[in-house]
Amino acid sequence: MDNLSKELAKLMWNVGIFTETVASLGMENIQTKEDFSPVTLADLGAQIMVSHWLNMHFEGEPLIAEESLKSLPKTNRDAFIDKLKGVLESFLGKLSQKEILDYLELNCFSTKKESYWVLDPLDGTKGFIRGNQYAISLGHINKGTIDVGVLACPRLRLTHLSDRKDVQQGCLFFAEKGKGAWVQLCNLSSDPIPIHVSQCKDPSQAKLFRSYESKHTDVEKTNRFCEKMGMKLSIPVDSQVKYGLLACGEGEIILRFTPPDNPNYREKVWDHVGGAIILHEAGGKVTDVFGKAFQYNGEPLLSNSIGVFASNGYLHDIGVNILQEIMGEL
Ligand code: AMP
Ligand code: MG
Repeated sequence: MDNLSKELAKLMWNVGIFTETVASLGMENIQTKEDFSPVTLADLGAQIMVSHWLNMHFEGEPLIAEESLKSLPKTNRDAFIDKLKGVLESFLGKLSQKEILDYLELNCFSTKKESYWVLDPLDGTKGFIRGNQYAISLGHINKGTIDVGVLACPRLRLTHLSDRKDVQQGCLFFAEKGKGAWVQLCNLSSDPIPIHVSQCKDPSQAKLFRSYESKHTDVEKTNRFCEKMGMKLSIPVDSQVKYGLLACGEGEIILRFTPPDNPNYREKVWDHVGGAIILHEAGGKVTDVFGKAFQYNGEPLLSNSIGVFASNGYLHDIGVNILQEIMGEL
């Protein structure tokens, strides 16, 4: 683990402590964004914490992130910002309203530069609110390739990686291009554990992860895929936690189709960058449902890709063949 990864791990672990602290305060501050998706003090606060850190260590390097000034509520905006200042104070010290707005404005949405960061400050907000899984995902792209990724999963308990029966929830995945992927369990002082995908080559023994939110995918097509593959296990999990689970061998496939009521939905870059490199470095593969690699071109949407198909690698070709059949059926 080099110094940058250590610093990033520290940052992301702290952001996870922050989001869990906000969760413990209750969820009365849920707002609805223009696209009707929810946003909380935790999403915005997490983005401010990461922006603050990036601004200190990588000033001037672009950031493409999910939240922005537009995520702030239109009514009672000042009261909401005051609450945000309150929950952030013990993590970042006192911030003025202007500083809060300035950190949110560091999100540039899209960039022509070759080197930039991609952040989902709280991936799986619906899971976070429900009390289920969510992740904080940060990755760095250089010349169209992800070179670093960190995924904090504050509610994930990975018992299979430890001899101890009392493994606490919370873990942090990270990966560096060409160097591998690791996870740290329970706390930052634990030794990083190298992780690898499952060796499963038999689809009938494979486990699939899909979106918990049925509106984020096409459940009927997912069921058809499982049937054709002879798979018995299709498990709903929120967020990029799915990438972490595959990377450490806890399952074999992630599948998301575009939803039937929104066929033009295109994947957002922040929903993948942090998790995708972790799975790739652990030996897995990430493509769209046609088997095409994602193209990272400085834009927020993966507009040349349709859905997501990720696997442990061994089951990729067979899965893509079946997906071609399904996508060809009307
Ligand atoms: P997941 O839990 O895998 O569904 O991933 C959660 C993320 O997927 C959220 O951050 C959403 O932004 C995004 N997402 C995926 N599909 C959709 C969709 N059809 N509509 C809205 N958001 C979606
Ligand atoms: Mg997300």
